[in-house]
Amino acid sequence: MSRAALARHPGAGLRVVYIMGASRCGSTALSSLLGAQQAGICAGELNQLPRSGWLQDDYCSCGRRCTQCPFWNAVRDEWHLLCPDADVHDYVRLQSKFERLRSWPRLRLAAMWKSTAFRAYLRLTGGLLGAISSVSGRSIIVDSSKGAVRPWALACLPGVDVRVIHLVRDVRATAWSQAKSYERDPRNGVPTEKPSRAVWKSSLEWVLANMLAEQCTPSGRRLLIRYEDLVRQPEQALNGLQAGLELDLQAVISAVDSGEAVPVGHQIAGNRLRMQGSVRLRADRDWITAMPIRDRETCWRMAGWLARRYGYSRNRLELDNDDDGSAGIRSRQRGWPNANQFELVSSEQGVPCSNG
Ligand SMILES: [Zn+2]
Repeated sequence: MSRAALARHPGAGLRVVYIMGASRCGSTALSSLLGAQQAGICAGELNQLPRSGWLQDDYCSCGRRCTQCPFWNAVRDEWHLLCPDADVHDYVRLQSKFERLRSWPRLRLAAMWKSTAFRAYLRLTGGLLGAISSVSGRSIIVDSSKGAVRPWALACLPGVDVRVIHLVRDVRATAWSQAKSYERDPRNGVPTEKPSRAVWKSSLEWVLANMLAEQCTPSGRRLLIRYEDLVRQPEQALNGLQAGLELDLQAVISAVDSGEAVPVGHQIAGNRLRMQGSVRLRADRDWITAMPIRDRETCWRMAGWLARRYGYSRNRLELDNDDDGSAGIRSRQRGWPNANQFELVSSEQGVPCSNG
């Protein structure tokens, strides 16, 4: 699309593959894999780019500060060409108005009444997606921002095809990961000190994040995948995503199959693993051997009722395999902004949520 056409309809014709889920759900690995498809680019946690990248100048996964990164500098220049009035501070304010959990009711109203602020948010967001596409030469942008409200806002963009993956990982694994503390180490992807988080708190956040993921995106618009399935049977999991989301993941499947590492590209925010330059799928069984039993029990008491629905078991540490994920994808579309967008029709691996 020409720059003039892009300026008139910023973001039109693009596809966003959005990953939502709880903290430490494995989104860095999955988004890097999906960004390696032929027409794709992984933008990392794109919602963080304006604040963490352009305002705070955090490190990009290429090892440079954001303002020194040629990719994000070119994106910013292109964004200003597409949206001459774009201002990062104003855009961050618009993001906090429409992308956060507390803005959910406001977002629904603003979309209905097409408020001036919401129209500005859409234009600048579409412009940013268009700029990323223009600079990278790719038409599929993988966004692993994880929040449950943002995909609904993105789906209000005219002509942008939003496909949502709900990524779930065992609550005990995510709580154990967050129980570790990290000193501030910006160059290695830890921009601020990360203190140890109590497992009850992580478990509560896991429940809230997954419930919101179910509530904010209708079941016919999202595909559920378990991180453990991706690690244990990557080919099957990626084939399921390929079929369910109409992506071309053959090159990625071949790379994973032959044990190749997949390059991370330019990601500003997210897990510190992005700073390693490339990702390779590996089973994380650390929590199984090292997590104290009382902590596991705390997780299960708080989140087991929901974890069980996703196929996790209190005593068996492997996943239940009694659901093949192929049956019963619902097509409830109510509450989704753009009814003409892609609708999930089948999946071999993705598991439809049981409600929502
Ligand atoms: Zn970079």
